[in-house]
Amino acid sequence: MASDHSPKMPPLNADTTAGLGASNSTDINTDVNTDPDERPPMRQALDQARLAFDRGEVPVGAVLVGPDGRVLSTAGNRTRELNDPTAHAEMLVIRAAARKLRSQRLTGCDLYVTLEPCPMCAAAISFARIRRLYYGASDAKSGGVAQGARIFNQASCHHSPDIYDGLCRSEAAALLSAFFVQRRN
Ligand SMILES: [Zn+2]
Repeated sequence: MASDHSPKMPPLNADTTAGLGASNSTDINTDVNTDPDERPPMRQALDQARLAFDRGEVPVGAVLVGPDGRVLSTAGNRTRELNDPTAHAEMLVIRAAARKLRSQRLTGCDLYVTLEPCPMCAAAISFARIRRLYYGASDAKSGGVAQGARIFNQASCHHSPDIYDGLCRSEAAALLSAFFVQRRN
């Protein structure tokens, strides 16, 4: 009945490279908060969009949910911060989730994003075999799903997700217009 053993979790400030599978993680999406966020995924995506706004990034946020309904990764745009034109929120959550699942396919996973994906992200969604795509605002200028390249409608596209648009549309759009108004001034 000795109960003075240390708990299963190492102290948060433990500076050790050993243990817990030597994760060697440079993962920018690492969850520090261990409390599962029970809010709907699109609300969490909006939070990520707001955080992106605060970083001076185009305010788009994304959340990837696993087949069991649990959130695998969350991210907002980081193209400026990372000097990476491909660091769109969707790309970041796909990369993080694929690393987490150790699989290049995210079969059965659902992606929530506050803005209609661009052609690059739509292609990545197809490559990752995402099951469902939920997005908020339409992107008349750069969208690649319902307009422009319409990636999922092309013969060269070998997997298309089920698509649900307009989720929290006005909130997502308001954030984007606030950002672009601010940038113009
Ligand atoms: Zn994109």
